[in-house]
Amino acid sequence: MSEDPSRTDRPAFGAAETAASAARSVRQERVTAVLEGWQAVGRWAVFTGGIVQAGLLLVARIWLSQAVFVHQIMAMMRATGFSEAPSVGSTLIQSVAPLLLASGLATRPVVLLLLFGVGRDVSEAHLAGPHALLLVWLLIGGAGSLSLDFLLRGGLARVPVWAVRSISRLYAASDALGELVLPLGTRVILAIAIAAGTGFAMWPVPFTGELVTAPWWTILLCWALLLGLGTRPVALILCAIGPPIVLSANTPDQFEITLLLLLIAAKGAGKVSVDALASCWTGSHLRMPDRSDAKVPHVVVVGGGFGGITAVRGLRRTSCRITLIDRRNHHLFQPLLYQVATAALSPADIALPIRSVLRDQRNVTVRLGEVVGVDRVAREVLLPAERVAFDYLILATGARHSYFGKDEWAAHAPGLKSIEDATAMRSRMLLAFEQAESEEDAAKREAWLTFVVVGGGPTGVELAGALAELARTGLEKEYRAIDPATARVILVQSAPRILPAFSPVLSAHAERSLRDLGVDVRTDARVTHIDQDGVEIDGLRVAARTAFWAAGVAASPAAKWLGLAGDKSGRVVVDGNLAVHGCAGVFAIGDTAASDGWAGAGVPGLAPAAKQQGRHAADVIRAAIKGHPSPRAFEYHHYGNLATIGRLAAVVEVRWLRLWGAPAWWLWGLAHVSLLTGGRNRATVVLNWLWAYFTYRRGTRLITGNTMDA
Ligand SMILES: Cc1cc2nc3c(=O)[nH]c(=O)nc-3n(C[C@H](O)[C@H](O)[C@H](O)COP(=O)(O)OP(=O)(O)OC[C@H]3O[C@@H](n4cnc5c(N)ncnc54)[C@H](O)[C@@H]3O)c2cc1C
Repeated sequence: MSEDPSRTDRPAFGAAETAASAARSVRQERVTAVLEGWQAVGRWAVFTGGIVQAGLLLVARIWLSQAVFVHQIMAMMRATGFSEAPSVGSTLIQSVAPLLLASGLATRPVVLLLLFGVGRDVSEAHLAGPHALLLVWLLIGGAGSLSLDFLLRGGLARVPVWAVRSISRLYAASDALGELVLPLGTRVILAIAIAAGTGFAMWPVPFTGELVTAPWWTILLCWALLLGLGTRPVALILCAIGPPIVLSANTPDQFEITLLLLLIAAKGAGKVSVDALASCWTGSHLRMPDRSDAKVPHVVVVGGGFGGITAVRGLRRTSCRITLIDRRNHHLFQPLLYQVATAALSPADIALPIRSVLRDQRNVTVRLGEVVGVDRVAREVLLPAERVAFDYLILATGARHSYFGKDEWAAHAPGLKSIEDATAMRSRMLLAFEQAESEEDAAKREAWLTFVVVGGGPTGVELAGALAELARTGLEKEYRAIDPATARVILVQSAPRILPAFSPVLSAHAERSLRDLGVDVRTDARVTHIDQDGVEIDGLRVAARTAFWAAGVAASPAAKWLGLAGDKSGRVVVDGNLAVHGCAGVFAIGDTAASDGWAGAGVPGLAPAAKQQGRHAADVIRAAIKGHPSPRAFEYHHYGNLATIGRLAAVVEVRWLRLWGAPAWWLWGLAHVSLLTGGRNRATVVLNWLWAYFTYRRGTRLITGNTMDA
């Protein structure tokens, strides 16, 4: 009989002893849940606001640069004689300023010159106009993250020249000042300008015309804006209905006011506001659990892959301290590993340090170390020289290659699981072309130019497709003695069709796409032997110096650590709540767990499955810590199957939707970019793909490590 996963040998935490305190605790829970929801909305607003603000500042810069440009043309047209011509200084500034402003290079000095600049005509054009407040934003707050200034700022701060470093420090001080004064000043000016119905006519030039009385609800919204109360929605409402309605019809500065309102909606009310006070209060009420707090339960998570990271994140607001142990310092996006192996991406594009992924989560400590066992009785995780005690344990150690008992093949047909595997594979593949180039014997050269991929699942198909594409188009004109396009790629699949998890129609499409790329697809074929010089397929020898393994996986040794038998792939058998039978408070998730949470069937070894399980394990542990009943049993939601073959060729199956060719390829790309961890990684992957798409070249064809070993 399985034990209740919520049971632990430690005292129950947060359990109410009397009925009154239980009721109080329930009330507190509700308040906390509401506040947590509120904070989550706030965090989302800050996150999206940051992105929107960068875009708005770019729009503002482009808007201002066109205004300067137009002014420059007008000034030149007006200039009929030397005496009326603009000064050389102001002409120069106005000529380069649009370019600098739009690209966000040296924004602050340029804005300074425009505001207080050389030449009466410049200042007349821009100081007194409605553009002034936008210029002040750029002067104090800088150009924003979509600018060259932003890209260069890290480097400038480290330039070994005192003057440059001083400017960089000045910028930092100005940023800090901007955080304080920009939202406050803008709110005040906008509230007065809109409430008075005058726009910028009253600022900074004293307003002399007739005031328009705004409707009462506009006045109310302006008061809220002034105080910084519900600032984001208020600014958006004013933006939608305000300027066009409340400002007098001939107010010329509606665009600027709209832009400024949007900037306030994106940036928020700032530090001097009712919103900031409320957020301070919520924050102090919901103190994030601290990792040094020894009184709370200790959750140990082994493995920082999809499952482990999601579980840790799921516990970020739970009163516990977490230790995440991984033998590598990075979280790896395995679905794109084959692109590192085939020289399309660099390792850093698909991996992110675990510390950086979790840097904002205060209740987690990240440890680099290889777990070698678990002491169930003492409730400790074993590292080579240390023991780590746990109250709850989540095992998320993934899977490794399985050569179905033929481990000696591993040396000749490496698999793909880690960054090291991918770079070794890349070296092996590129080295094969190098060896072929210097080989004089035709038969040996052919063996160097023959690649065998074992396994017709997504990894094998993607690997074979990418390899064929590299040989056909990626190495064009680079070799003199060989034509890389003549390379043979053989894909061996023991089942009757490739991609058996997809519908037969899509398998057929994938096979056709591979054949179009020149891949020799052999279904119903078994590899019977692999050595350094070749591969035997159904007893027939193929001379091939390079073979790759994409055929089988086995779970990590987690089941052995717990002294359990595991299922036939060695996975830890778990119950409906992903808890391990007979081990209270121990959970297994992801590729290392055998769960029947897919409507009674086995959960597949996929990244979304590991993430969903990570989330569920966190929910179960949170409920146990709070003394709540466990959530309903884990249910896996399958989003679909995706695999790519090559340029504009992929297959996608999402419920009833079946796509292939270019639409599937775009969808595959979008899905993978959105699932990648880290903005930098997303940007570099997209750039690399675009580069490869337009140039047909691969940027990372490096042979690394000891080339003689590869
Ligand atoms: C080449 C390849 C392509 C794939 N393509 C896709 C795809 O397109 N779509 C998809 O959904 N899925 C794909 N998958 C499967 C998907 O990557 C896995 O299902 C998913 O990574 C499982 O997550 P996990 O958290 O269980 O394990 P992993 O993500 O593998 O993480 C396990 C972690 O545990 C750590 N670890 C292991 N042993 C120890 C130890 N003893 N001590 C400390 N740390 C340890 C590892 O370093 C690793 O960080 C692919 C897998 C591979 C290998």
